Amino acid sequence: MTARPVLHADADAFFASVALRSRPELAAVPVAVVAHVYIASANYPARARGVRSGSLAQDALRQCPELILMDVPRAEVEEVGDALFDIFHNSATAVEPGSIEEAFLDVGATDWAGAIDAGHALRRRVARELGIPISVGVGSTKLMAKLASRRAKPDGLSVIDAGEEAGLRTTLPITDVWGIGATTLQRLHRIGVLRLGDVDGIPPNELQHVCGTAMARRLWRIRDGTDDAVVRPVEQRSSLTAEGSTAGFARPDKTPGELAEACVERLCKRAERAGLAGTGMTLTLRPETGGKAVVRKRTLVAATTGRADWLAVAGDLLAGEAVPRLAGLRVTLTGLLPLDRVQHTLF
Ligand SMILES: [Mg+2]
Repeated sequence: MTARPVLHADADAFFASVALRSRPELAAVPVAVVAHVYIASANYPARARGVRSGSLAQDALRQCPELILMDVPRAEVEEVGDALFDIFHNSATAVEPGSIEEAFLDVGATDWAGAIDAGHALRRRVARELGIPISVGVGSTKLMAKLASRRAKPDGLSVIDAGEEAGLRTTLPITDVWGIGATTLQRLHRIGVLRLGDVDGIPPNELQHVCGTAMARRLWRIRDGTDDAVVRPVEQRSSLTAEGSTAGFARPDKTPGELAEACVERLCKRAERAGLAGTGMTLTLRPETGGKAVVRKRTLVAATTGRADWLAVAGDLLAGEAVPRLAGLRVTLTGLLPLDRVQHTLF
């Protein structure tokens, strides 16, 4: 293999792992954290008992009566997420974020042994400094690295080498290729594409008709081994997000106003620590009925980290128009700029 190996690093049962930092004695028993009335994240012992994230907490308890439920410590989750990315950036020459707790990394290693060593070192460092387990996958492309990290879970490292990769490019179930929607999957299954190698038997026109030109090209590239292997770094964070739910679990319920205020406080603190100032705010309101989220935005004339400014903006956005009862909300600070570039507007 000549290409530079790609790493995929992904925290295991992230929310549950963060919650368990303060209750290490519970690590081996089924534990799940709850957001509103749903399971946000279940640890591996709970998963082994059939507890799934996204299910109702009461259903999960019926499935696993000894399940221990905990509140989501949102502020802590967000801080650990920030710290995790600080470690990623510190350990890699390029970081492409996937979510608050996963990323593709180019660690600058030109050979496999170097990449694997870097993966072990990264796992040790995150465990030592943050007290949470992450799994790392190493592969020649982003898809291979991601498949490897999935297999490495929980708390492991896995490598897909050239030999295994060659086999996977024929035998990989199409459901394991990330980013294919449920409808497209059904259509592919209907024409007999269950595994990657099955695309060989489908005329190009038909494949494009069934899953669209872009997806067809992606499938051919994956089949050929020329799929995406470039870690595209994000120069700096362009936004920071904080969120919470109104219904408390092992804590009092919160009003939307209290939630928005807590989110703004956390965002200002995190932005300041990262040396960034925001120019815009987006407020996303999640109705209790599960309907479509309501999104409101505001842009300021000048970047600022001022709490008072952002609390006022959040208050305005929230007061905008009558909203149905809320399950929760999300506040995003957008258009982040390095503080040293906006000093003149601050003082
Ligand atoms: Mg994860």
